[in-house]
Amino acid sequence: SRLAAASAPITDGALADGTKVPLLANVGSGKDAPGAVEAGAEGVGLFRTEFLFLGASAAPSVEEQTAAYTEVLRAFPGKKVVVRVLDAGADKPLSFLNDAHEENPALGLRGIRALRASEQILRDQLTALANAQAATEAELHVMAPMIADREETEYFVALGKELGLASVGAMAEVPSIAVLADQVTEVADFVSIGTNDLTQYTMAADRQLGSVAALQDPWHPAVLRLVKMLGDAGAAAGKPVGVCGEAAADPALAVVLVGLGATSLSMSASAIAEVRAELLTVTLEQAKERAARALAASSAAQARQAVSS
Ligand code: PEP
Ligand code: MG
Repeated sequence: SRLAAASAPITDGALADGTKVPLLANVGSGKDAPGAVEAGAEGVGLFRTEFLFLGASAAPSVEEQTAAYTEVLRAFPGKKVVVRVLDAGADKPLSFLNDAHEENPALGLRGIRALRASEQILRDQLTALANAQAATEAELHVMAPMIADREETEYFVALGKELGLASVGAMAEVPSIAVLADQVTEVADFVSIGTNDLTQYTMAADRQLGSVAALQDPWHPAVLRLVKMLGDAGAAAGKPVGVCGEAAADPALAVVLVGLGATSLSMSASAIAEVRAELLTVTLEQAKERAARALAASSAAQARQAVSS
């Protein structure tokens, strides 16, 4: 009956052969936490912290930030919560951090680059995260957006550890980090692939520009090959490599991402049920076969077709 289905326990993400694939939620603030729990999210794979900063004329205090992060961590006792430090610039400009006059803001001082140039803002945020960790039972992981190479990874990991964080990772959004996947997985505790920006930069197609939307497609084999490079490097180094971009919310693509080596998937809570159901229809071997077919395709459209036929 419908009632029985509604009250049936929600299982953890897994393939047909029992391979575990944790399904996590993308959240933007504490307000999103109850919905994520209700959807059966096994934790948070991407907590975008921009909401605290957007529209403000200065960075929020350590105390304010500690309260906001604590609210989210508190909703997930014993569960993984991956927090992304402030991603300002390009599509998310901040008056106190970004120069409004960059000609190509997507290629400018954004993400970790902007934080590094205003390091006290980053130190305050990491301090607030360490405070929130100390006050809750969640398993906190912290990552930085737009990391381009090993040196930037080392910088961020060292600063995070200095300020008391246990697990510090890199987002893979800039293609260079996939090219250097072996170096980055050596240094970072984990990697999380942001397919929205990784696609934008791989295909040189503005994610906000409708006229190039056809190229801004995470099914593109060029993007999938970068995902595989990261997955392979993570497996070799024994480091988790998750996906937290919109691609993870597409059930057919979620299977391909797992076949390429993604160890967890994070998406908006509303997408979790469908992805969970789709993963249960394939074994890891079958997911790898589908991934191989997508990798061999010559366009995003062909990759989609190769996987569905
Ligand atoms: C991404 O780029 O895929 C991502 C998860 O970050 P955002 O969409 O916030 O840039
Ligand atoms: Mg991004």
